[in-house]
Amino acid sequence: MKLSDCRKCGLCKKQESGFRRSQVVLGEGSTKYRLMFVVEAPGEYEDRNRSPLWHETPAGEMFGKVLKNLSLKRELVYTTSAVKCRPTQVGPTGPKNRNPTDIEVSSCRPWIVKEIIRTKPKLIVTMGAVSMKSVVGVGGVTRHTGRLIRVREFDCYVFPLLHPASILNDNSLKERMKKDIISLRAALKEVF
Ligand code: SF4
Repeated sequence: MKLSDCRKCGLCKKQESGFRRSQVVLGEGSTKYRLMFVVEAPGEYEDRNRSPLWHETPAGEMFGKVLKNLSLKRELVYTTSAVKCRPTQVGPTGPKNRNPTDIEVSSCRPWIVKEIIRTKPKLIVTMGAVSMKSVVGVGGVTRHTGRLIRVREFDCYVFPLLHPASILNDNSLKERMKKDIISLRAALKEVF
């Protein structure tokens, strides 16, 4: 089965709000440098533009700043998401984004596993709790950010970060992200 035909979890079906994914969102960017960034799940703009993290959203802009701080260009890294279809809930003016459920994350895990095996990253940077749980299999993202974790399943390193959206309105998390990015810069030198 092709990823674009997947009907494995409820995200392909009509939701309560009458909405369903408009498309499956695939990974994008270059696999040449074997550096992968994994976000959580598509939101409205990601679903519309078929991009794992659309650059014109506040979280997408924050991701751009993270990459700039690391002296990286977006087209030279590979970006993907742990869940490939947009999760929604009923909102006052239509469907609203929501976090994926554990069942949705585990249903979609075989796809991200295939993607990792196919692209062979040396380092995967997970962004947020959902992506860390999906790739590493452990929860508690705040206990794990800012350090390298060796993941035998993929024979590579994982470096967990907070999700760019989670730090937007929280200065203490912004400070934490700054420190984690300094550590990530050192980790990039260590791994590559
Ligand atoms: S979220 Fe993943 S498992 Fe669920 S339908 Fe989409 S591609 Fe399939």
